Amino acid sequence: MQTKVVKIDAEQIDTDKMEDAARIIADGGLVAFPTETVYGLGADALHSEASKKIYAAKGRPSDNPLIVHISKFEDLESIAKEVPEQARKLSDAFWPGPLTMIVWKNEKVPYETTGGMDTVAIRMPNHPIALRLIEQSGCLIAAPSANTSGKPSPTEAQHVKGDLDGKIPMILDGGPVGIGIESTIIDLTEDTPMILRPGYITKEMLEEVLGEEVKVDPGIIASDSLKKPKAPGMKYKHYAPKADLVLVDGASEAVTAKINELVKEKQSQGLKVGVIATDETKASYEADVVFSIGARADEDAIAKHLYKILREFDDSGVDAIYSESFATPRIGQAIMNRLLKAAGHQVLTV
Ligand code: AMP
Ligand code: MG
Repeated sequence: MQTKVVKIDAEQIDTDKMEDAARIIADGGLVAFPTETVYGLGADALHSEASKKIYAAKGRPSDNPLIVHISKFEDLESIAKEVPEQARKLSDAFWPGPLTMIVWKNEKVPYETTGGMDTVAIRMPNHPIALRLIEQSGCLIAAPSANTSGKPSPTEAQHVKGDLDGKIPMILDGGPVGIGIESTIIDLTEDTPMILRPGYITKEMLEEVLGEEVKVDPGIIASDSLKKPKAPGMKYKHYAPKADLVLVDGASEAVTAKINELVKEKQSQGLKVGVIATDETKASYEADVVFSIGARADEDAIAKHLYKILREFDDSGVDAIYSESFATPRIGQAIMNRLLKAAGHQVLTV
């Protein structure tokens, strides 16, 4: 199959250009498209055969459910068994936006879309191309991230092409995404709402809107936790670059010194070494490849560049990577959740 990449100007969407993509979705095929978080791989969410194609293209385990993308709140009402009051409040506050809600599903949603679960994950993306694709196709669109299973989520159309070229008919290229890490997932099916995946929308923001406590799934906090994460996808190895990645945590100068020491050690073994630095520290490293993730105070930049940098290390052929740690105040939990998984939880504290 040949994969067609179609450039779309998000500011001024050409309806004719979108027509082929909309028809592919309506006919049960796959289209990759930009959202504000990462690129998604979409199919008609209410057709089991269409959903199945997503798992095949990504090599995704069949027990890992998909997020259903909608363009209006009534779409949620049409596929939820019941609509929790919290869903209305959160929708008013954060939709369209990087928040996914888990509710009980009704019979319209096939088990292929929900990985066999009786609940369904729903999100209204804040991206004009994504919203237009949903509306123009007349479908609700099931879409996980458009990467090969296990690889970092794609934040540019080129990343999607690198992973899925020849496996899907079309990629809509709307340029680099705005946020760069996947949506926050909140489960609304239990008495107390629970975050199953941290993201750009934080616990504090959710609690303020809901006026009640929000828990964080204990299964995602500690690496050594014996608890299984509630979101099936969180248990899989994910986001990992090819090279071995180790995080170094501590005061800035001590971290730089330690990383330089480790780099020298690896280089003396004949290995090629990469470093993930910040704008402030980039010049202090003596490695084969040094990428700055952004200014340390700019949390949004750190989130936005993380996956791109992990992919660039794959292309640069390094054998080992050392990274500074980014437990920043607001979305640090979301960033570190991804980075720790990429590092297989290898952290050195200095
Ligand atoms: P992705 O879109 O690639 O970020 O993957 C979707 C994420 O949502 C995965 O981690 C899934 O396990 C999670 N997810 C989707 N549906 C559900 C559900 N019904 N219950 C719990 N987690 C879900
Ligand atoms: Mg994913």
